[in-house]
Amino acid sequence: MSGLDLLAPEHHGLFIGGSWREAEGGASFAVLDPADGSELTSVADGTVGDAIAALDAAVAAQASWARTPPRTRAEILRTAFELINERADDLAHLMSLEMGKPVAEAKGEVSYGNEFFRWFSEEAPRIHGRWMENPVGGSRLLTVRKPVGPCFFVTPWNFPLAMGTRKIGPAIAAGCTMVVKPAEQTPLTMLALAAILAEAGLPDGVLNVVTTTAAPQVSRAVQADPRLRKISFTGSTPVGRTLVKQAADNLQRMSMELGGNAPFIVFDDADVDAAVEGAMVAKMRNMGEACTSANRFLVHTDVAEEFATKLASRMGALVVGRGQDDGTQVGPLIDEKAVDSVTSLVSAAVEGGAKVLTGGSAPSGPGYFFTPTVLSDVPADAEINAQEIFGPVAPITTFTTEDEAVSKANATEYGLASYVYTRDLSRTIRMAESLDYGMVGVNTGLLSNPAAPFGGMKSSGFGREGGFEGIDEYLETTYVGIAAD
Ligand code: NAD
Repeated sequence: MSGLDLLAPEHHGLFIGGSWREAEGGASFAVLDPADGSELTSVADGTVGDAIAALDAAVAAQASWARTPPRTRAEILRTAFELINERADDLAHLMSLEMGKPVAEAKGEVSYGNEFFRWFSEEAPRIHGRWMENPVGGSRLLTVRKPVGPCFFVTPWNFPLAMGTRKIGPAIAAGCTMVVKPAEQTPLTMLALAAILAEAGLPDGVLNVVTTTAAPQVSRAVQADPRLRKISFTGSTPVGRTLVKQAADNLQRMSMELGGNAPFIVFDDADVDAAVEGAMVAKMRNMGEACTSANRFLVHTDVAEEFATKLASRMGALVVGRGQDDGTQVGPLIDEKAVDSVTSLVSAAVEGGAKVLTGGSAPSGPGYFFTPTVLSDVPADAEINAQEIFGPVAPITTFTTEDEAVSKANATEYGLASYVYTRDLSRTIRMAESLDYGMVGVNTGLLSNPAAPFGGMKSSGFGREGGFEGIDEYLETTYVGIAAD
């Protein structure tokens, strides 16, 4: 499969029960290039009937997949890992085309996302239960771990590969079958992944992919089916809430990886240059379109000016352009709505008194670009501090005491990623314990790691992806009491 093959139509249907097929009724929808809005290709527009057919296939494959030895499941994941490595350039190119990110960043995502396959290939053979003596005697207490059963995965457009592998990897390792619904903006990467998993030997029906523009109807129908046992969603908090409500009737297991509003706290004892370096990663990875993206910069007054000046100089020097062009560091945002939303957050902050140190607007011309922006003196109550920006904008506010930093950092409904720059070990421990976040980065702007439990609290959701915790999301526990003297 080369880069161009990945755009060819043979893999643009629905992938159900191990074969590619058109949508019921033959409808399709366009996949657009966010760098200029042109049509790249089109894919099948699956219906509710198609989604139920995909669930039928997952249900039919569940029992034999659960009985497949863990080592076999592991080896399929490992083979897929090798194939993805071989095709990393092509996958990165494809992802850059449909999502907009620079090819080098897309390659980083292929490598990061693929590590979930390696990690969970290593975890599959280590699933185990317990054996213990009843503390009061008379029996033995055995626990057995079993796959949850057929799963439904809904993934976002911002990391088209990694948001899939974080769910697919542990599900395959645990012995679950699945129906995946990728974001309508970026279906091609998921379809390419399905083709690779099939080539790696994944049995028919274990993974099914339904591309569709009817996400609400499809998710309602699939979740209303009592055969579905689990839903895992990555996306916005409002959609997450809807899916949680829909899970209630059949009491489906759930993992919800939702929005964030990450504070990036720089103390006066921090290495400011290192903090600027970390800020570039935490803010600019994926053009700021990441749930872990630094959203609010909280900087001690004594170092605020130095930090802001250095960050503005670095952000202002970034090369904005088409993701496939050499030298591009910042690609387009996903669509016009995204540019409008970032523009209005920046305008409101500026009207409220914020100063623009660099950037501040969308450039003219085609495509959905936004110039990297640094704002200082942002009023504490500005909307930009309350909402996920999802764009290349760094708003800076200041604090003077550690307590103030903690209370400002925690003053949000979200609780996903947070970042702290300090050289004081005791402070590091106090911050890790007092920040209401699922993840705390200390002197680093990059938290995502397949070996660590990624996830949030509060309105950022629940459940963990990656780490030792990642596979638990796909396992049930049966306790067996055995009478014994
Ligand atoms: P979104 O919620 O609009 O869409 C995500 C997915 O949900 C897409 O596949 C979409 O088609 C689908 N969807 C939309 N409405 C639906 C419905 N009613 N029922 C079922 N599915 C539906 O989010 P988005 O704009 O694509 O992605 C950005 C959001 O994702 C941000 O809030 C970001 O923080 C979040 N995100 C979270 C993580 C994390 O791990 N916590 C990672 C990446 C992105």
